[in-house]
Amino acid sequence: MNIHEFQAKELLRRFGVATPDGRECTSADQAAEAYTALGSKVAVVKAQIHAGGRGKAGGVKLAKSADEARAAAAEILGKTLVTHQTGPGGQLVRRLWVEQGSQIASEYYVGIVVDRTTNGPVMMASSEGGMDIEEVAAHTPEKILKAPFGSDGLLADDAAKRLAEGIGLPAELVPQGVALMQQLAKAFCELDCSLMEINPLVHTDDGKVIALDAKINFDDNALYRHPDVVALRDLHEEDAKEIEASKYDLSYIALDGNIGCMVNGAGLAMATMDVIKLNGGDPANFLDVGGGATVEKVTAAFKILLSDANVKGVLVNIFGGIMKCDVIAEGVIAAVKEVQLGVPLVVRLEGTNVERGKQLLDGSGLPIITANDLDEAAGKIVAAVA
Ligand code: GDP
Ligand code: MN
Repeated sequence: MNIHEFQAKELLRRFGVATPDGRECTSADQAAEAYTALGSKVAVVKAQIHAGGRGKAGGVKLAKSADEARAAAAEILGKTLVTHQTGPGGQLVRRLWVEQGSQIASEYYVGIVVDRTTNGPVMMASSEGGMDIEEVAAHTPEKILKAPFGSDGLLADDAAKRLAEGIGLPAELVPQGVALMQQLAKAFCELDCSLMEINPLVHTDDGKVIALDAKINFDDNALYRHPDVVALRDLHEEDAKEIEASKYDLSYIALDGNIGCMVNGAGLAMATMDVIKLNGGDPANFLDVGGGATVEKVTAAFKILLSDANVKGVLVNIFGGIMKCDVIAEGVIAAVKEVQLGVPLVVRLEGTNVERGKQLLDGSGLPIITANDLDEAAGKIVAAVA
């Protein structure tokens, strides 16, 4: 789960992390009021969407008066920001964060991810702040310093000091950098985050080390422990089909292609997408209906697939292990009857009771194209949508 920058800053502040004071706004007048209330000469008007790269896309503007804040807000609110993280469709701006401007002396990067090689969190820090860290990682990986730490969230003093010094914080500001890094590490573990990014971390002309941007992703499997975090969810920022899928406990991720996929098991779903690609097609989604797919779940999955106007055909690829193929076939037939399928449907079943399953599909009188293996199935659906 993702949250907005201003929400991330509010959470981090609870752990002592220094961030600029600000106000959440949903109108241009509120932004003007916020400017006055904040009382700083320069304020920053920032679009709140679940994507980075807002600065370059015109979603971060400086304002030197209440009128400038109002004008900047009017320009950004209601705009569809297209950044390298939003996809070509962009993301509509509905909320703003207006904060006290900072006199930036230097920008740095600090991030925390879960590292599979150390089986724990690792803090990454770089002197190259304010830019795409992916670029830095690709071209100058030596500029990214790393410090693994335990799941207790305790980043040792010497490890934090090595990072703070290594990224080039002035010596007198290293203690502030160390404290901030340790606060981030603690927050990362206590909030069950899967990713935390401060880009940029800055030091200011008046000698303060502060988090100027904040991005947090949470581990969905641990959200039950954090109702206060769940309350921050902004459904406007999420794909409507993904929200619907989560109600039925389906793992669904929308993609750009035109072949809707219904598969059981994440590995099989990945393989199915690969084989569609190999056959020259493009999947419209990743969908794992899980091991215990019921008729109700299969029907919900079909409805979600078909609500995507880009879907020109559906491929069902199910391996009947715990589930039996005849039960799945019954589910598919019931679902197809209920949703009145208007596009070609290819079904490939394998596993327990597969013959009975195929008989049911063939005898259903429905225009279902059956296939015996994955390659044949992918070939048939790619041909059907061409
Ligand atoms: P992002 O583009 O979505 O990552 O948004 P950021 O919050 O990182 O802001 C983008 C850039 O705007 C930063 O890298 C800064 O250079 C600039 N910026 C943000 N806040 C301030 C501020 O208070 N003062 C100044 N001078 N620049 C700022
Ligand atoms: Mn940023």
